[in-house]
Amino acid sequence: MSKTVLVVDDSAMMRKIVIRNIDEAGFKVKTVEAEDGAVALKVFMQGGIDIVISDWNMPNMNGLTLIKEIRKTELGKTVPIFMVTTEGSAENVKEAVLAGATNYLVKPFTAEALKTKLAKVIT
Ligand SMILES: [Mg+2]
Repeated sequence: MSKTVLVVDDSAMMRKIVIRNIDEAGFKVKTVEAEDGAVALKVFMQGGIDIVISDWNMPNMNGLTLIKEIRKTELGKTVPIFMVTTEGSAENVKEAVLAGATNYLVKPFTAEALKTKLAKVIT
């Protein structure tokens, strides 16, 4: 059964790029989109999400809070979550990992970087 990836970003263009990269990497997954953390949390809680790829800066609920909220739930304790950051400073990465991020991608990331990191969680 194919896995479902929740792609969260307030930029529709960015969501499109992420989804295209996933497709071009050859992963046979379903994708679901959300435009901010608040919407993403609702979608996640409905179940069936296997992987989350989230932007950091978003209105309503940012990616960091989204990760913390997902990790608080029974459903979200172990789901792989990728944080997409605009700057990959050690401080930012550490903050994301402490919040519960599985891995991170620094914008602009290559299709290859996404592929390598996703391959570790999509089997
Ligand atoms: Mg954003």
